Amino acid sequence: MILDGKKVSEKRLEILKERIEESGLYPRLATVIVGEDPGSQLYVRMKHRACERVGIGSVGIELPEDASTERVLETVARLNRDPDINGILVQLPLPGQVETARVIEAVSPGKDVDGFHPYSLGRLLAGTPVFSPCTPKGIMTILAEYGIETAGKRAVVVGRSIDVGRPMAALLLNADATVTICHSRTQNLADEMRSADILVSAVGKARFVGPDMVGEGATVIDVGINYDENGKLCGDVDFAAVAGKAGAITPVPGGVGPMTIATLMEQTFLAATLRACDPAL
Ligand code: NDP
Repeated sequence: MILDGKKVSEKRLEILKERIEESGLYPRLATVIVGEDPGSQLYVRMKHRACERVGIGSVGIELPEDASTERVLETVARLNRDPDINGILVQLPLPGQVETARVIEAVSPGKDVDGFHPYSLGRLLAGTPVFSPCTPKGIMTILAEYGIETAGKRAVVVGRSIDVGRPMAALLLNADATVTICHSRTQNLADEMRSADILVSAVGKARFVGPDMVGEGATVIDVGINYDENGKLCGDVDFAAVAGKAGAITPVPGGVGPMTIATLMEQTFLAATLRACDPAL
């Protein structure tokens, strides 16, 4: 079974558009981009397009490549104070001179629609999440949409980054899976991976996951965004070789990626609804 993230995201965006219309709210997202990295610019453009589609207002702030940490912090502080802004997204990675952790921590937790603030991550780990990192949360939505059971299943997450691996593991744990996190120092990696009912690869290496690493009938979630030797977009998973063995698998493109943006939209609406209940947020 192909887990069609594009289709699920389209459906979720349509539902969200209706919910926003019915709510009478006008959620607004601010994006902050530092520098001119074409990849980051593309992602930010896609996010603004998604906002437009569902009825979320968006404001794009562009800072120069050599902007200092203080300048970025001032921008975030201004957006924190702005009552018309519900969600703040600082596009990562930031240029080397900017202290990323300070910037992430400066975002007001009530506007942390990207879910990277330590408060958001702490709540996620405590099992009481408000905003979660969008990529892993989007993966949970795909699993739910396709009726893939997590409770009691063995989930193996390869990768331990703050944006994907760690929150993915926490979300799966909160959904009652038995979770193992693997990384570059893991021993017997292929054995660990083969034992998974649900295997999530967030490594960032083309064709990293071959059929010898996948158990018969496993659900395989490919988070990777890589380019092969011909410059073609591909995930971490050798799709052609693994698809026959997996029970369900996400393609790249059209799998996890579209869900990340749909989840960002959902969390921006959530931020607006929470604020409507408590204007102090
Ligand atoms: P990071 O580089 O932050 O993390 C990669 C992880 O993979 C690290 O934990 C690293 O281990 C682990 N790793 C690297 N090599 C190996 C190895 N040989 N064996 C086992 N583990 C290994 O990347 P991200 O988590 O940010 O992203 C991962 C991939 O997902 C990238 O391709 C990225 O582009 C993509 N991505 C896709 C998104 C989407 O929307 N589809 C969103 C975000 C990311 P260690 O910690 O020990 O170094």
